[in-house]
Amino acid sequence: MPTYVRTEKCDGCKGQDKTACMYICPHDLMKLDKDGSETGNAMKAFNQEPEQCWECYSCVKICPQAAIEVRHYADIVPLGASVQPMRGSDSIVWTIKFRNGNMKRFKFPIRTTPEGSIDPYTGKPKPDMANLDKPGFFTTGTNLKGDRSQLIRL
Ligand code: SF4
Ligand code: SF4
Repeated sequence: MPTYVRTEKCDGCKGQDKTACMYICPHDLMKLDKDGSETGNAMKAFNQEPEQCWECYSCVKICPQAAIEVRHYADIVPLGASVQPMRGSDSIVWTIKFRNGNMKRFKFPIRTTPEGSIDPYTGKPKPDMANLDKPGFFTTGTNLKGDRSQLIRL
């Protein structure tokens, strides 16, 4: 079941050419209706192909206005209930609303380092261009850490 945009909350990412939801959607589904010719709501985003949405929640999590929600399958989240995340820089809070009005919140850490601080190549050797034609991965051999007895041998 697809996402939908609460137009009263969406601010069109303040008129940027590529909105946050357009940037993040792996299926290229979110679109900004700049002049309102497609939905009647100018400068509001919408899911242009709802049947293609796989409910990955990426757009829901990135929207700075918390304007995107997901319409779920009724056997998981029945009508009147909702599952809504609010992502921070180091944690995410999921708000679960039940049909009877009960509300539960769950907070989980999502990272252990500050955003933007990771350098994936720290401590790794410089690439040897002569190895480009050989099979294998960058992390194979000396860079592979951990208990090797657990590795599956083919
Ligand atoms: S990310 Fe949110 S605020 Fe920005 S255009 Fe999409 S729905 Fe609107
Ligand atoms: S839930 Fe995922 S697939 Fe669906 S519109 Fe959002 S980002 Fe795209």
